[in-house]
Amino acid sequence: MRISDSRYARERSQLELALRMIAYEARTCTIRTCTGLSDDRIRKIYTTYFKSEPRINVRRQRGKPPTRISIYVKNPTHQGETTTLALLYCDAGLLACRLDAPAPLLLGKSVAYGHRVCQAYDVYCLLHPQRSICFERGWFLIDALVNGDELQFTRCSGCGSVYVHDALTLDDHLCPGCQRRRRGSGNRCSRGRGKPR
Ligand SMILES: [Zn+2]
Repeated sequence: MRISDSRYARERSQLELALRMIAYEARTCTIRTCTGLSDDRIRKIYTTYFKSEPRINVRRQRGKPPTRISIYVKNPTHQGETTTLALLYCDAGLLACRLDAPAPLLLGKSVAYGHRVCQAYDVYCLLHPQRSICFERGWFLIDALVNGDELQFTRCSGCGSVYVHDALTLDDHLCPGCQRRRRGSGNRCSRGRGKPR
């Protein structure tokens, strides 16, 4: 491979990653972090490939990226989807699934890192078309799990499966599926406790 071929392949990979991330409405600062492209170049890519195309509805997100942890564990649906995405990151080689704090497997926010995140997020979207976790939150999820202060992998006390939970919450360590089953049986019990007719 000649040097010019190598440079072409690198620039093409940067462009492809920027296109994937813009399509998911990632912020300019997030795209810049892993593509290495300038803000001006990213804006030009958006203008060239998205803004002038009326059939594509992509909005540009502004402001700081979302970093609140509560959205990931807001309810069993969000928590289940967070777990799916986190395990897809493990499968993509971005995280090691450990029960204390998952170690990052791929260091640095490189182009390869960005493509792997997009690959995992693509599968998540196929599994959950009405996705509760937007791309930016999905992106931050890796950092939150590596940090490990609040979000951690843990094992369900009911069925033994691994899921993502809020380490600061005192609960029964039940996965989203077991939480739903408990609520379902609780509802049936409370209906059964009604006054006899
Ligand atoms: Zn369970």
